[in-house]
Order: sequence, then structure tokens, then C-alpha cells
Amino acid sequence: MAKIIDGKKISAQIRAEIAEEVAALKSEGVTPGLAVIIVGDNLASKVYVRNKGKACAEVGIYSEIIEMAQDTSQEQLLDKIEELNLRDEIHGILVQLPLPKQIDEKAVIAAISPEKDVDAFCAENVGKIMLGTASFLPCTPAGIMQLLSRSGISPEGKECVVIGRSNIVGKPISQLLLAENGTVTICHSKTKNLAEVTKRADILVVAIGRADFVTGDMVKEGAVVIDVGMNRRDDGKLTGDVDFNSVEPRAGYITPVPGGVGPMTITMLLQNTLTAAKNRIKK
Ligand code: NAP
Repeated sequence: MAKIIDGKKISAQIRAEIAEEVAALKSEGVTPGLAVIIVGDNLASKVYVRNKGKACAEVGIYSEIIEMAQDTSQEQLLDKIEELNLRDEIHGILVQLPLPKQIDEKAVIAAISPEKDVDAFCAENVGKIMLGTASFLPCTPAGIMQLLSRSGISPEGKECVVIGRSNIVGKPISQLLLAENGTVTICHSKTKNLAEVTKRADILVVAIGRADFVTGDMVKEGAVVIDVGMNRRDDGKLTGDVDFNSVEPRAGYITPVPGGVGPMTITMLLQNTLTAAKNRIKK
């Protein structure tokens, strides 16, 4: 039986720590501030943005949600970002993705000032992750590293296998595991004999986007299994990329879906906003 890595519990611990630090900053006259821009009517995005606003309020971070119409032009969005780049009380800026098709996502990410890029998506912040000099880590990978360290799991000297090579999860988590001295292998849709590779893993991170893809026979006995996947079943239930029922009896540790990696992502956004505010004070 695997130990369950409880993302809700760990997330609540970190949020309590953040709230304390925010209160201390406020007593020095600085309230960390986050602006979230949402363009268009995507219902899922609206829910995510609302949750981000609520989470900010819970830890005492000021937040501003800016809703822009579906037919917003790229220029209008870039103007809004520039306005936020210049506002002192806004320390973090996040543009909710996906964006309507008339807007170039890359141009938008590039327009956010790197000191306010709390998603850590811009080229400068991605480069700093490679160099090990980053102020902000991308939220989902940062959350995974917290789940590991707060469960007493070190990647040092371990075989770490990551399935998925996206810019938001697969690539950055591979880099963070490497920075913690893991021996890292990255798999993707062209990887041959995937199960042979995954069976080597002491730590297996799965970020594919396919429900129940990783099964018990692909996992080494005692492995730490981190399931990043968030897939909606036909019945509306959320499920991961890992087939929990067959993997859990073999794994040493496992994150459930929901309640594993998911709750950590917004928590790390709060952490990055706090860090951005602290960085501004240091300047
Ligand atoms: P993505 O951009 O679609 O990337 C998926 C990756 O999986 C790609 O690198 C792809 O390989 C690889 N892949 C697809 N099929 C595969 C297969 N059969 N064998 C091996 N590799 C395969 O996805 P993402 O944005 O990283 O997200 C992955 C999952 O995590 C999704 O379910 C998403 O909803 C979830 N997610 C959760 C959170 C959270 O907060 N919990 C945050 C972000 C994402 P190629 O590169 O070769 O195409």
C-alpha cells in the first residue's frame, strides 16, 4: 500500500506560512498584489480565475481580476499589460490561457515584465531556471517539488522519469529534479518501449493528459508516483494520467487526483506573488 501524498494538506500548510509572511509585509506597509487578466468567455478559465482571486483573499494578497471581451485585439491586451507593468501596487501579472485565436500567446507572455511574471513563462525566467538563478519557478513544477520535499523525498541520486515535455510541466520539472541531483529521463510520444523506461523510475512524474494511461505494470515496486494529469471523464469526474487502482498497490508514495498536485498550483502562484513583492522591497 502506497503512502498518499496529500496535496490539500501540504497546500494548506504552505498557505498558512504565506499568510504569516504577507501579514508581516503589510505591517511594513507593503501589500502583495496580483493582477489576473482573462480574455473571453471560457467557462473553465473563469472558474480558475475566480479561484485564484479567492485564494489571494484567504492569505491577504490584494488581487484584481481584469475581464476583457472575446474580441479584444492583441494591441488592447498588450496596452493593458503595459499599464499593469507600470503600477507599483501590482507585483504579479498573470494572463489566463488559452487566449482567443486573434492573440499571439508568445507576444503576450513576452510583454509581461519578468519581475512580475509570476507564472515564470517568459524567456528570461525560463532561462534563469536553467541557470539555477530563478526567483520564480513555474507553479505546477514548483508545487511538485514542495510535495516531494515536504514528504521527506529527495531526488538526489534517484532515477527520475518524467513523461511529458510541455513547457509548463514536463520540461521545467525535469530541470528542477536535475537541479536536486536526480538522474533524469524525459519521455514523450515518440519514446520507444515506454514501460521499460518507466519501470526504472524511483520517482515517476506523469504529465500527459490521457486518463489512466500509466498502469501498475509500468511502475517499479516502491516508486514515488506523481500524477499531474487532470482529465474529465464522461461522467464529469476528474481523473489523473495514472490508473490509481493498479498503481497504488505497487507504489511507495502516490499523489491522488483530485487532491494531489492540483491544489499546489495556485498555492505556488501565491508564493510567487509574495516573492515578487519581497523582491521589489529589496530593490
Ligand atoms: P501537453 O502540453 O499536452 O503535453 C503532453 C505531453 O505528453 C507531450 O510532451 C506529449 O508528447 C506527451 N505524450 C502524449 N501522449 C503520450 C504517450 N502516449 N506516451 C508518452 N508521452 C505522451 O500537456 P501539459 O500541459 O503538460 O499537461 C499534461 C496534463 O497535466 C494534462 O492532463 C493537464 O490538464 C495536466 N495539468 C495539470 C496541472 C495541475 O495544476 N494539476 C497543471 C498543468 C497541467 P509530445 O511532446 O511528443 O507530443
